[in-house]
Parts: sequence; structure tokens; C-alpha cells
Amino acid sequence: MIREDIRNVAIIAHVDHGKTTLVDALLKQSHIFRENEKVAERVMDSNDLERERGITILSKNTAVMHNGVKINIVDTPGHADFGGEVERVLNMVDGVLLLVDAFEGPMPQTKYVLRKALEQKLKPIVVINKIDRPDQRVHEVEDEVLELFMELEADDDQLDFPVVYASARDGIAKASMDDEGKDMQPLFEVLLKEIPAPQGDIDGPLQFMVTTLDYDDYVGKIAVGRIVRGRMKPNQQVVIMNGESTRKAKLGRVYTYNGLNRVETDEMAMGDITAFVGIEDINIGETVADAEHPEALPALTIDEPTLSMVFSVNNSPFAGREGDYVTSRHLRDRLFKEVETNVSMKVEETESPDAFKVSGRGELHLAVLIETMRREGYELQVGKPRVIYKRINDQLCEPLEYLTIDVPQEFMGTVMENLGARKAELINMNELAGYLRMEFIIPARGLIGFRAQFLTSTKGNGIMNHVFHGYAPFKGEIPGRTRGALVAFEDGETTPYGLNSIQDRGTLFIGPNEPVYTGRVIGENARESDMDVNPCKKKHVTNMRSSSSDEAVRLVPPRIFSLEQALEWINDDELVEVTPKSIRMRKAILD
Ligand code: GDP
Repeated sequence: MIREDIRNVAIIAHVDHGKTTLVDALLKQSHIFRENEKVAERVMDSNDLERERGITILSKNTAVMHNGVKINIVDTPGHADFGGEVERVLNMVDGVLLLVDAFEGPMPQTKYVLRKALEQKLKPIVVINKIDRPDQRVHEVEDEVLELFMELEADDDQLDFPVVYASARDGIAKASMDDEGKDMQPLFEVLLKEIPAPQGDIDGPLQFMVTTLDYDDYVGKIAVGRIVRGRMKPNQQVVIMNGESTRKAKLGRVYTYNGLNRVETDEMAMGDITAFVGIEDINIGETVADAEHPEALPALTIDEPTLSMVFSVNNSPFAGREGDYVTSRHLRDRLFKEVETNVSMKVEETESPDAFKVSGRGELHLAVLIETMRREGYELQVGKPRVIYKRINDQLCEPLEYLTIDVPQEFMGTVMENLGARKAELINMNELAGYLRMEFIIPARGLIGFRAQFLTSTKGNGIMNHVFHGYAPFKGEIPGRTRGALVAFEDGETTPYGLNSIQDRGTLFIGPNEPVYTGRVIGENARESDMDVNPCKKKHVTNMRSSSSDEAVRLVPPRIFSLEQALEWINDDELVEVTPKSIRMRKAILD
């Protein structure tokens, strides 16, 4: 059976290329909103943190209707892959819509997801957006997209991608630049024509794959996925299958998507992107199957956590001044709620009732949680990230990661050097149009602090992704500690901690507001001429000199604050204090 009444498509876009505006325009035209009703919330990435970091962390669904066909639009995560999320999301769809800015062209950050989509043989549609820009380079951008597809080894059918030219802002889409253009109709038409309709057995026993989880205070855990076979009804008896293990369960309510909302429904069927509630212990990757004829779908990979960090109640003298949530109860509830939906994350109790061990897929994964909690009003302390070692047959083993890096040629040397020092082993290198793809196996400990270093040393031109590779006997020594002090620097005014104790290299200034200045005492004989020009140079230099007369400071240019950057610098014993207003370093400690 072919469900001609459904299309499932994932949208891939670099931040700011207009994804939200485009979805809003499609919603508007599909009359999901009354004429006088504004799209109140722009949902596709309502999380402002996602916008700032230029990545999408949560995948969300939107549905638009056109000529009786429901088009489910699934958002894709950005370049960050938290434990296989990209593959899982792409598993729900039959095609992808690549949205590209008519001036900027395709950006490296979207390549990872696009590569996965092409590998999964999904049909691509290219939408060149912002054609109203006076500086648009539509035709060049079109060529750039073609080059990118060739480089990503798209097959012939994929290379023959349809292109739609759009000004999402003006609500216009057209099949050719020469067309006049009056509404979004041409994009709807291409979507319906080019994205294959779901195909499968609608009358067979139910098979549904849990792809993402959501949580709502009223209904609890919400499982989202695609019905691969059969039908799903509220209160249906099912079997949940997870590898070899199976258990019986009963569904609660079943939902479909309509516009930006989840709407209760009586029945969903093969091809539908569906949500249901009522099974609190459901997990990502599990198959929901017919109670009489249970058959599991192929398992989806969920990578193991490789890094842990201790989160604890803030017991500094400043605690409680800013936060809404400061007790261990608040912290505990929040963390345990997080793991309900964040599959590759784990939380464990520790000996102290005030501290919890949180494990995740890497620094970015943990940093995103910390930053989210800070914005929610939590006040806490976090320790340095530690690799999760395991004893396997009495041998100490460490996690390895498979790291893929794309960089322009000119940065190859620096990247190789940085990764060499981090014990990475190069296993593959390919020259692609103008840049290099390098693949490494690297101990997870070698990745700590690497993202920040990589972003700086490639001036933001590189992309990195890593997936779990496996455990191997631990051979190295634990990386050396950086001697130095970390100094909090609030509102560019004061330096409350530790200035007097600076003796040696390694000083970090972190301000709650961007830009952030980092400074480093570079050695005993350094002179003032070693200093880079920097807006805050004078103040820091004066302070530093007064604390230690024979040392000078080199200030690097202002950088955007990132927690990963900060973490790279801190010692084991140091804590990062996270408050709703800022993140600051505490305890200036020397070796
Ligand atoms: P997202 O980050 O991909 O969701 O991007 P948004 O939809 O938030 O758009 C980013 C910016 O581009 C906003 O300022 C939009 O108003 C603007 N924008 C979106 N579509 C267009 C367009 O077609 N033309 C122009 N000129 N600007 C657009």
C-alpha cells in the first residue's frame, strides 16, 4: 500500500538560512492559522541556546496540509551528533529538504547531516532561500550545491535534484528564477511530486520505532516515531521489544501532528509520524509491536556515554543569590528528568547527597545541558570532565572515538599536530574539493578540550564529528595538568579570585558577557611587547604585573565564550560555578 496522503521530509539548514521563516510560510499557506492570527511562537528552534551555538539540539515535528496531503516536516540536529540522533531522525523520513541561503551558499556545518541523508538514499530537494537579497548569487550557489553533492558521492538520481527558489520572508517560492512568484505553491508541488509517499503493509501487525522522546508535565513521557507497519490505536495492547527482551504494555493516547501542535487521534497507520503516551519506561530505539505477532525492527544505535562530570549543589559563599533552584532535591529532580528524554545521557547518585555524576557523549553534550540549566535558573557547580574507564577482563580500558574532520587544506598541519599530541591515529585521508576529510581513532580523553582548540586553530572553518568506536586497553598516561590559576572576572570590573596567586603560565579570564578575554602568563622573561593588542589589555596587564612583577601577559583576541574552551583550561580540582547570570571559575589552584 502507498500512502499518497502523506509525505515525510526532514529539513536541513544552516542556522539563519531561514528554516523557521520557511516553515512559518508553509504553515501560513496551508491555512493552519486564521488570517488574523500570527504565528506566535517560532517553534522549529525555540531553544535560543540552539540559535547561539548554531546547532539544533532537539528534533521537532511540524505538519502542513496541502491538497489533502499531510506533509510532516522533521527538524534535523545540526552538526553535533549526540549518540546517533541524526540517523534516527533520518530514519523517519523519505526525503530531505536542503535549505541554502542565496548569498552564503551551502555551509560546512550542514554537511554531516546531508552526508548521512545521501548515504541513506533519501531524495533531496534543494531550496535556495533569500533570493530577494540584493547580493544573491543564486546560480553560483546552485553550482556549489551540485559540487557538494558530488563530493558527498550522491547517486545519479540524487544529483538530479529539483531546485526551488524562495523568499521565505515574502512567502514566495518558484520553480524557475524567471517565474513571477506569488506564493509557496510551487514548493508544495515539488514536495508532493518528489518525496516518495510512504509505502508498506498497512494491515499487517504493528511495528513502530521509537525515534525521539519528549516530556510534558501533564501527559508524561511522549514517544515519537514512524509507524512502519500496521495501525496504532489509543489503549492498544502492545509488546515493547528491545533486543532479545520483550515486555507487555498498553498505549495511552495517540497523537498526530497538525501545524505546530500534537493532536489526539483515534487511529494512525503505516507511514504516519505518530506520538503516544502512557508507557513511562519506553526508550529510544525500542520497537512497539503487535501483541499477537510481535516482530522487532532492526536496532538503532545509541552510543555509550564516554565522559562524566560531577554536578553538585553550589556551596560557595555566593550561592543562592541568583538562582531559583539551589537544593539537592531540585538538582536531582532536574537531572533525572533530563535522562528521561536525553538517551545518551546517564545520571548516578554519588556518596554525597549533594552531588550527582552525569555521563554523556562528550563535552558539548554536557555543556549544552549545563547551559540549559543555567538559563532555567539553576545554580550549581560542575567538576572537570572525566573519561569513563572500564575494567574488561581485569584490564583497564578506555573509550575510543571515531573522529571525522573536514578542513581546508591550509589547516591540515595544525590539525595533525594538535591531534598527534592528543594520541589520535590517522586512519584515512581524502582530498575533496578544496579541503581534506581526515578520519582518526582517538582516545576519548584526547578529545577533551579539542573542540575549542579546533575551532580556534581552523578559524571556524572546520567541522568535526565523532561517534563511539569501542573500548581498548588503556596505554597512555593521564594528560598533564596545566599549572595556573583561573580567575573570575565579573562584568569587566573586578577580579574576585586568585589574582595574587598567579605564579606561572595559564590564566583564564571569563566574563559573563561577551566578548570574553583570555589571557595567559607566558613565562618569566616575557616582556610587554609580547602582548597582543586587546581592549582590556591595560587593565589585565596592570593587575597581573602588580601580582607578579617579572611576568608578562599575552592576551589573545576576544573570543566568544564557550564552556568547552573554559574546561580545557581547568585543573581537576577546580570547579566551575554555574549561576543563572554567569559561569565563573572558582578556586585558583596551583600544582
Ligand atoms: P533559521 O535560523 O534557519 O530558522 O532562520 P530564520 O528563519 O530565523 O531566519 C534568519 C534570518 O533571515 C531572519 O532575520 C529572517 O527574517 C531572515 N530571512 C528568512 N528568510 C528570508 C528571505 O527569504 N529573505 C530575506 N531577505 N531574509 C530572510
